Amino acid sequence: MRRPVLTERMRGFGTTVFAEMSALAVRTGAINLGQGFPDTDGPASLLEDAVAAIRAGANQYPPGPGVPELRRAVAAHQQRFYGLDVDPDDVLVTAGATEAVAAALLALCERGDEVVVLEPYYDAYAAGIALAGAERRTVPLRFPGFALDLDALRAAVTPRTRVLVVNSPHNPTGTVLTRAELEAVAALARERDLLVLTDEVYEHLVFSGSEHVPLATLPGMAERTLTVSSAGKTFSVTGWKVGWVHGPRELVAAVRTVKQFLTYVGAAPFQPAVARALGRPDEDYAREAADLEQRRDLLVAGLRAAGFATSVPQGTYFVVADAAPLGFEDGYELCRRLPELAGVVAVPLAPFHDDPALGRSLVRFCFCKRREVLEDAATRLARLGG
Ligand SMILES: *Cc1c(COP(=O)(O)O)cnc(C)c1O
Repeated sequence: MRRPVLTERMRGFGTTVFAEMSALAVRTGAINLGQGFPDTDGPASLLEDAVAAIRAGANQYPPGPGVPELRRAVAAHQQRFYGLDVDPDDVLVTAGATEAVAAALLALCERGDEVVVLEPYYDAYAAGIALAGAERRTVPLRFPGFALDLDALRAAVTPRTRVLVVNSPHNPTGTVLTRAELEAVAALARERDLLVLTDEVYEHLVFSGSEHVPLATLPGMAERTLTVSSAGKTFSVTGWKVGWVHGPRELVAAVRTVKQFLTYVGAAPFQPAVARALGRPDEDYAREAADLEQRRDLLVAGLRAAGFATSVPQGTYFVVADAAPLGFEDGYELCRRLPELAGVVAVPLAPFHDDPALGRSLVRFCFCKRREVLEDAATRLARLGG
């Protein structure tokens, strides 16, 4: 008998739900609030800087760890916003945060090691863990508050736990872990001597009343934490795939060892452009977050008017809505029918869970779209209630 083409460890990762739902949006002409990418460009000066870098000849392989200006800019950014002391030599530039996460998991995990993630989880963590031959253990965040269940976290950690993956602000729930929650995570990591991989790509997309606390700023954490971020979400250039990771020298060196055989280097002309963008004034960062917060409010109001129960996300691009009050116990079914019912596309939350009961009637909408698009979507969704 012929062996299946795809390796066993990657089975179940066939087509992502984003690809499926985006194809549905294209086929039906529905407004795509499924996949999380902005429908406007990043700052004009950032785009110009990349064009200028191409014209100036930044078109050959840059240094493997990243161009020095970007590594310095990441270190300066960590100091300026969080008071973190980072040596530019301990910054590794990657092909987006995605590569940083995958390379870290491949670098740190032996087969059979366990990796703890928050559930629902960003799908790339599950795939990275599978690629590394490691095993996933999950800690649930429950709708609508998505508070971290500390007892469940403690229970998920075993003697085989190698890495704890934390993502805050959190995709897909939009929750921002509180300082108290992060302190509890840190206490557990210290007690059990765990490595921590923290994905902070939404670090600047946090709304009033909430605060982003990098795990590496907590006592005893810098020495065990790999901090990952990216230009994609912060500067609305998700197609650029410029990410980075920093942490203790030994850990970053391990990630670099893997990274050099995945992509070798990151794209050259985007790196100096992102380096300059990181130096933008505080007001620019704050304006982006405030503007996104208004669009959050618009979509949340629209979803509630349509009859959904929703969370109120404190950060990210995403709001989670419960379709049960509308008579849909299965979020997948609602998402498949939503283009026909309301001309809108969302993604079901079920695929981001191991426990199918947890996310069954939940769906995720993104609000990183222009105001008029969100208004149009809200009007269309109002049909559901009628
Ligand atoms: C978008 C996203 C990423 C991917 O970032 P890239 O820089 O595009 O690779 C990683 N983690 C989370 C939680 C995301 O939402």
